[in-house]
Amino acid sequence: MSSVTQGGFPPPERSAAAPGVLSGQRLRDLVLDRTKDPELAEAVTVVSQVLPFKVSSYVLDELIDWTDPAGDPIYRMTLPHRDMLGPGDFAAVADVLRAGDRAQLRKVVDDVRDRLNPHPGDQLTRNLPGLDGPGGTGIQHKYRDTVLVFPRQGQTCHSYCGYCFRWAQFVGRPDLRFALGDPGEMTAYLDRHPEVTDVLITGGDPLVMRTELLARYLEPLLAPDYAHVRTIRIGTKALSFWPYRFLDAPDGDHLLRLFERVVRSGRHLALMLHLSHPRELATKPARQAVERLLATGAVLRSQAPLIRHVNDDAATWATLWQDEVSLSIVPYYLFVERDTGAREYYQVPLARAVDIHHAAVRRVSGLGRTARGPVMSTSLGKVLVSGVADLGAERVFVLQLLRARDENLVGRPFFARFDPAATWWDQLVPRSESDGEFFRGLPPI
Ligand SMILES: *Cc1c(COP(=O)(O)O)cnc(C)c1O
Ligand code: SF4
Repeated sequence: MSSVTQGGFPPPERSAAAPGVLSGQRLRDLVLDRTKDPELAEAVTVVSQVLPFKVSSYVLDELIDWTDPAGDPIYRMTLPHRDMLGPGDFAAVADVLRAGDRAQLRKVVDDVRDRLNPHPGDQLTRNLPGLDGPGGTGIQHKYRDTVLVFPRQGQTCHSYCGYCFRWAQFVGRPDLRFALGDPGEMTAYLDRHPEVTDVLITGGDPLVMRTELLARYLEPLLAPDYAHVRTIRIGTKALSFWPYRFLDAPDGDHLLRLFERVVRSGRHLALMLHLSHPRELATKPARQAVERLLATGAVLRSQAPLIRHVNDDAATWATLWQDEVSLSIVPYYLFVERDTGAREYYQVPLARAVDIHHAAVRRVSGLGRTARGPVMSTSLGKVLVSGVADLGAERVFVLQLLRARDENLVGRPFFARFDPAATWWDQLVPRSESDGEFFRGLPPI
């Protein structure tokens, strides 16, 4: 066993932004060593040519149950599996790997990647700031009150989720990168946009950044000039992938002190925790991290997509929400898996997602029912699938926009024809002419 995969607290030099992570050949060797299953090991080699994988020692040692890897939700979430590629693509990549032809490998891999919709929702051309914006990338301003900031050094994560819609960015295709190198661009943008009340620092995972660097984004926002910024959110999966980020001195302590300063300035600080499965909250380091975070005065909220093999049943969500409420974490969103990468491996039909959400809600009290979902984040806005209904002889999805550029559309129910197999917005058909209004902005199919 490699030294970086030993359990318990890591030595201090590995704390914060630089946990021991495994990928490539070392990940394959570890899988073979722990599972004794050559098929699972081969899948690591082949699939990770196409999709990015990297797993922290904490996930490998504390979260995955190695007695049943193929049935383990955390294994399925973070490690390659052969079914992530179509059988033809898997065989093609395996063949060129065996032949050892590097040029041909590159060609085959690029070809497979291109067919995995590397750029869902057209992120590069939409959501960009208006004409008076920084004119570049790294800031998205789609809804009047909320600005998303993508710090350049926060565009990676402590581990990767196999379903991540940013996978193309992680495999280093420079044309797909968009990030902000200079906090000054963020403040300059906010100077011109006093209507912005919410700043959302996101990634990747911004908490891979050293505290000092993160502070360069947060501290300017606490000045009186930015009194219009009432709420600061930080999106992170560090609690699940590297809870030591909040524990190990010195950088962990620095981070908590930084959060305290944000709270003392009168801002609402929300850590938007990406939590996929109750097991992520069950470990001692995760529980300690939650306690320390709450002590800063930050509010903890949770969100995650509904993912096949990981959390696609009502009992898992009900337990997750209940555990979150016990720990003072507020359930916020249940997302629909996006239409990219290993989507066929992970996707759940919308009709089933609705059933799972409703069944999970029925198992918990009102305090556990605060996660809106299933929600699709589309280029049009955030679309909630409220349920399925029969209008006369016709079965429909009942939809609602939670977020849209055009606020007049928000909150009004609208309908799409029921389709038991549909997994994403672009497969839905408006029920009538008037429902079509809500589908404006739909990317061309
Ligand atoms: C989800 C989202 C937000 C935040 O929306 P809330 O409803 O305030 O959580 C902001 N910008 C974009 C682009 C989003 O997708
Ligand atoms: S934590 Fe978020 S950004 Fe990072 S790999 Fe997972 S889904 Fe992607």
